[in-house]
Amino acid sequence: MKIEDFNFAGHKAIVRVDFNVPLDENGNVTDETRIKGALPTLKKVLADGGALIMMSHMGKPKGKVKPELSLKQIVKNVSNNLGVEVKFAADCGKADAEAAALKPGEALLLENLRYYPEEEGKPVGVEKGTPEYDAAKAEMKNRQKEFAKKLASYADVYVMDAFGTAHRKHASTAVIADNFDKDHKMLGYLMEKEVKAVDNVLNNIKRPFTAIMGGSKVSTKIGIIENLLTKVDNLILCGGMTYTFAKAQGGKIGKSICEDDKLDVALDVMKKAKENNVNLVLGTDSICGDDFKNDANTQVAPSMNIPEGWEGMDAGPDTRKAFANAIKGSKTILWNGPAGVFEFDNFAGGSKAIAEAIAEATKEGAFSLIGGGDSVACINKFGLADQVSYISTGGGALLEAIEGKELPGVAAIEK
Ligand code: AMP
Repeated sequence: MKIEDFNFAGHKAIVRVDFNVPLDENGNVTDETRIKGALPTLKKVLADGGALIMMSHMGKPKGKVKPELSLKQIVKNVSNNLGVEVKFAADCGKADAEAAALKPGEALLLENLRYYPEEEGKPVGVEKGTPEYDAAKAEMKNRQKEFAKKLASYADVYVMDAFGTAHRKHASTAVIADNFDKDHKMLGYLMEKEVKAVDNVLNNIKRPFTAIMGGSKVSTKIGIIENLLTKVDNLILCGGMTYTFAKAQGGKIGKSICEDDKLDVALDVMKKAKENNVNLVLGTDSICGDDFKNDANTQVAPSMNIPEGWEGMDAGPDTRKAFANAIKGSKTILWNGPAGVFEFDNFAGGSKAIAEAIAEATKEGAFSLIGGGDSVACINKFGLADQVSYISTGGGALLEAIEGKELPGVAAIEK
């Protein structure tokens, strides 16, 4: 079912949202982006004349009640954004009375789902690899099904709108969907937008297609890099990964970060790029620091010849030009991961050059998708968020989708 085609009048909808918002030490919400992201779906339910039940996790309480991770702290933010007084059910596993009393146009928020270990469905108190683990896992799967059934019993429609957790097969993100028929379960507007953005990048490619992968490690990105190697025209690899590639080619990298067990992986990426006619763009020069801090002494050095005692911390001037050249003129752009230690202003220039080139290409008609916490933080830091096509709310979920993996949160709705 498509949310646009569903009339919620007279229905009770349970919506999985991602309200895992940052809080300060007094429990005040410091960034409402995620609450605002869910509003189109939530408002549609209420505007149609439906009753709205919202459920989410917050943080990692690991199956235990942790007051500092209570969703009660965000009730007023949700109320203000939604324009209705949101009620609160202090136990998400025993909210029958609150759900039953809910009238059309009213909204209820359930307490943190992850207070229950059943939400994540991981066995508690048993070590992985022990003989007891398999039995505990099977038992927990059953408990997870029961917990999902309980959540489902509060409503007659299920809406999945939490892209940030769509790569997890949790009670509220996937298992619950088994309790609803096809006409009574759907993706929310935010999920639809996210899925469409990924589809634009992977299946509706306008060329040239340039992907920029940065961050600290090759190991966490290799699955995506391999998938992209069969799709892109230009692949820019930057950030800390640069030095694993430099060392693999016999370069000297000083004390730059490097994954010594991934040198063969780096060489294999280079070989596959050649085989697939992908223009692989690696940094040729680096801004190096003599200490891992913002006010370290700096010098520019070839990325293949970093002096002893120095580490590559950002893309150098030639590299920035090469990156910008590859990005400009592109028609599809994907960016994940910074080109340097952007948290330090003195080493943010490489990431800024990338962000500016993406903004320029977008102005010329490219579709640009930015995702993963750090690149989003980058684009915000440089004030360019409104100059790219789409900023994903998902970190892990986005990366898994780009890797070509099916997201359980999407699959559960479609089956
Ligand atoms: P990731 O979580 O793998 O996406 O990596 C993001 C982190 O990579 C950021 O915190 C950056 O500071 C860091 N990073 C980027 N370039 C470098 C570099 N050359 N050396 C060390 N850390 C880096």
